[in-house]
Amino acid sequence: MAKVVILGVFVADTAYRAQRAPRMGETILGESFALGPGGKGSNQAVAAAKAGAETHFITRLGRDTFAEMALKTWAEAGVTPAVTQHDEGYTGAAYIFVEAGTGNNAIIVCPGVAGEISRADMDARAELIGSASVFVTQLEQPMDAAHRALEIARDGGAVTILNPAPAADLPAGMLALCDYVTPNESEAEALTGLPVTTLEEAVLAAERLIAMGAGAAVITLGEKGALYHDGKTGTHVPAFDAGPVCETTGAGDAFNGGFAAALARGFAPVDAVRYGCATAGISVTRSGTAPSMPSADEIDALLT
Ligand code: ADP
Repeated sequence: MAKVVILGVFVADTAYRAQRAPRMGETILGESFALGPGGKGSNQAVAAAKAGAETHFITRLGRDTFAEMALKTWAEAGVTPAVTQHDEGYTGAAYIFVEAGTGNNAIIVCPGVAGEISRADMDARAELIGSASVFVTQLEQPMDAAHRALEIARDGGAVTILNPAPAADLPAGMLALCDYVTPNESEAEALTGLPVTTLEEAVLAAERLIAMGAGAAVITLGEKGALYHDGKTGTHVPAFDAGPVCETTGAGDAFNGGFAAALARGFAPVDAVRYGCATAGISVTRSGTAPSMPSADEIDALLT
């Protein structure tokens, strides 16, 4: 079976809703609290597995309560972990302050031991990465680990996807290792230095990403869907309306997981982008990130 291998980070999302942020030295009572699995790479792995792909996830965990949460999340979704657990250090965690009146948030992410994922870790996983049909990474773990993993995946003949999130400067030659680069609008702006607010601007940014070395570019455009560009033609894939929108956090992760699963199933690129948009379109109608990822049956039903 075609294998999806994803490198990335798991963090436990701890979300606190309150009228306002506390001032330094102050304690305030909040309105509500929620704990859930997060981290871009982990969310993408859950999305790919639930979309039906054989999915392996490479990361580092501590040996603590949040590590147990990660392992349970992956077991329930059908993700095969390729993790090392470390006694020194801790599993990643994110503090999310949600302002009750506006829904705006402010976040502190501590990646814990996943912040020390290294090139040597990737060499130790070379057999798994080299056996991938589709390899995906983002930029929450150290850049040089992502770079090394893309080299190994490319050497092994995998289709390679870089979701350049959070936005960061890429080392020379990294985009040339990517069959697909999948930024959202602000990440595309950061990578190219071009504004990306309209479809026409997205086409220009995609062309720039390809000139910078990527094989093809997929720029996700929120409720406007996604722009796929193969270097010759730009194709707009509209978003799906799967019901009232509940929470868009993790939409990009749903897209990337669904897109990778569809490529592993042998879909043509534009059809895989449609599949990713359908995956994300369902996820935004539900609360939570990993728990909101749809099954292959649900995605297929939306596409027919
Ligand atoms: P990110 O979460 O990384 O910022 P986007 O906001 O671009 O990514 O969303 C990723 C994908 O999720 C989009 O390409 C689109 O298919 C889908 N999506 C996002 N917001 C909505 C929405 N309001 N309705 C339907 N689909 C959406």
